[in-house]
Amino acid sequence: MFEKTIAAISTALQDGAISIVRLSGNQAIEIVQKVFDRNILHAKSHTIHYGFIMDGESPVDEVLVSIFRAPKTYTTEDVVEINCHGGVFITRKILSLVLQNGASLAQSGEFTQRAFYHGRIDLSQAEAVQDMIEASNDRASQMAIYGIKGSVKKLLQPLIDGIMDIIAQIEVNIDYPEYEDIEQLTTQDLIPKTRVWLEKIDMILKQSQTGQLYKRGIDTVIVGKPNVGKSSLLNALLEEDKAIVTDIAGTTRDIVEGQIHIGSLQLNLIDTAGIRESSDRIEQIGIEKSQEKLNQAKLVILLMDGSQDLDEQDQVLLDLTKDKERLIVYNKGDLKVRDGICISAKEKRIQPLLDAIESLYEKNLLKENPILSNERQIGLLQQAKDDMNRALDAMLLGVEPDLIEIDIQLAHDHLKEILGQVHRDDLLDTLFSNFCLGK
Ligand code: GDP
Repeated sequence: MFEKTIAAISTALQDGAISIVRLSGNQAIEIVQKVFDRNILHAKSHTIHYGFIMDGESPVDEVLVSIFRAPKTYTTEDVVEINCHGGVFITRKILSLVLQNGASLAQSGEFTQRAFYHGRIDLSQAEAVQDMIEASNDRASQMAIYGIKGSVKKLLQPLIDGIMDIIAQIEVNIDYPEYEDIEQLTTQDLIPKTRVWLEKIDMILKQSQTGQLYKRGIDTVIVGKPNVGKSSLLNALLEEDKAIVTDIAGTTRDIVEGQIHIGSLQLNLIDTAGIRESSDRIEQIGIEKSQEKLNQAKLVILLMDGSQDLDEQDQVLLDLTKDKERLIVYNKGDLKVRDGICISAKEKRIQPLLDAIESLYEKNLLKENPILSNERQIGLLQQAKDDMNRALDAMLLGVEPDLIEIDIQLAHDHLKEILGQVHRDDLLDTLFSNFCLGK
């Protein structure tokens, strides 16, 4: 399908023990043969060959060359991987030698894109590959491996088939309007079928949205009036997670200032500087600013001084956070024990809070449930749901079947788009361009 044989460096571009230059395409083996001192033209598939990469008569590096013959390869094309010494210079040199000998430089994600176009994987599996590379916690990597194994397709195919069923019924109705029996049957059947379908979609959507929290981490803010112990809590949390505090570079996530890990959960802490910098930050920045900060958060930890009675300021914060997912936490438990989540940040006794966070999210996500793994997929599922809801409304109003079919067909297409069974090439190019080079 693709004429060009592509090549790229598949490992990170930094000095390391080993680097891999990968080629894929009809000419992959021939091209490497031109720069390799052992004969690999007739090498069996899935074999490794020791030798030297040559630049004319001069040896360039001592390498291992792996041969994978089509079709059982990552791309389904012939694939060759050159394991060379892991210096940036030598890796680039070997890449440039294969480029000089007929390979073309691969675009980002082009190997995976070829696997998709050749039908070895669907689009959700391709995305899961990149998800695995980006996974920063156990849960994210678990979701990625489910995705790589094709769980999204397993999840969606019955729903796609379910819609096909409804469409088929409508079409019988349109094609043979004179059979009144069929028309009656259709009207009765469509509504409950559509409702069941919508319930399933709804469940998957909810699970998937929770799944996103696990994958990306939960944007969390600690609020409380001055001197309740916010800084002390932050320090206790940071100490709990020794691996911490990673700065997250990038534009969209720059409100997040650090991550901590609790079990398999990741909390992205917002505005840690605000907590540290000034004890009366809430007063200083005003309600409006606090609101803004709260809006960005998925989880609010509202800290109270448990050793004292709640006052007006606590009440303002209680009101301000009432619509958020929140945990109300009583600090200074060493001075006074309270019911509820009671901790002592100063004495680093924060286990009740950690347990509360875990149980809040554990209950939302059953571990083994298959879910959609990214926003593109979730967005399309939401669109399919909207399409079907419109169709359901029309059914309830008794609208003609052929008019209803348009929305149902849209729902069908949106689901298929998740798997890439329906796609626009330009959108796919954009999607794959966000992949790693050499993947
Ligand atoms: P913030 O203004 O909310 O960030 O509060 P800080 O963390 O700066 O704490 C304010 C004061 O409360 C400090 O003197 C802390 O030592 C004290 N404090 C914080 N947590 C506890 C606690 O669990 N028990 C006791 N007894 N004092 C605490």
